[in-house]
Amino acid sequence: MKDVTIINSGFAYGGFTSGSEGIWTRNEPTDPPAPDYKSLSERLRTPVSHIVQPYQAGGGKAAVVSSENGGSGVIKDSAFKKTDGLVTAEKGLVLSIIAADCVPVYLVDKYAGVVGLLHCGWRSAAGPLLKDAVGLMKGLGSVPGDIQVYIGPHICADCYEVGAEVREVYVHAFTEKELEKIFIARGNSLYLSLSQAIRSKAENEGIPDENISVSEECTCHDPEFYSFRRGDKGRQNLAYIMINTTEQGAENNVPVQNTFKS
Ligand SMILES: [Zn+2]
Repeated sequence: MKDVTIINSGFAYGGFTSGSEGIWTRNEPTDPPAPDYKSLSERLRTPVSHIVQPYQAGGGKAAVVSSENGGSGVIKDSAFKKTDGLVTAEKGLVLSIIAADCVPVYLVDKYAGVVGLLHCGWRSAAGPLLKDAVGLMKGLGSVPGDIQVYIGPHICADCYEVGAEVREVYVHAFTEKELEKIFIARGNSLYLSLSQAIRSKAENEGIPDENISVSEECTCHDPEFYSFRRGDKGRQNLAYIMINTTEQGAENNVPVQNTFKS
């Protein structure tokens, strides 16, 4: 089991955890919350009815979440179907997504008081998901220049060998210069840097390069995380973020113990 703090700024709190079982979904909307969600809720001192999980589909859809959506996908049917990005301006509401090698992307605008969380697989990293989420954040008062992007633990470029069919999709989504950074050729093999793809997408939305940081954690390298590529089936890690209430902000305002490179 492994927990990583991604954001602890007083304004917002975000993390990435394998949980103890790695089970964050239920078979039926009427089933009780997964035990890992119950432990997370205790740790965050936030009721499960304030946590939201979408039904992810590896696509490009993002949605704005408000307090009436609390508990969606955790204690009741999710209001967010085939959705891979969530955005909110509400304090004390926890956005969450599951990932096992895919990239959790945390978006934070403390000036506008808005956060977002995306689940980016290789397809959505090349698609409109980030652009759409930033668009929703702008609708809530965000300015791209004020958005901080934290690219959380995911499968790193050393581990992520891909086929030529992936590059064929990326050729239509990125410039030749961007592709040079996104793909790494070693021998006859091709490796994909998902973080570079997301960085390019973020920069294209007007988010400054210095606002973007990348976690050095790799879900595939580190056996304490769940990894699809390493063979974990049905067990995943959870990424989550919340805007602190004033009380939580005061309690959580301690330095982040995490390794990030910019
Ligand atoms: Zn790796």
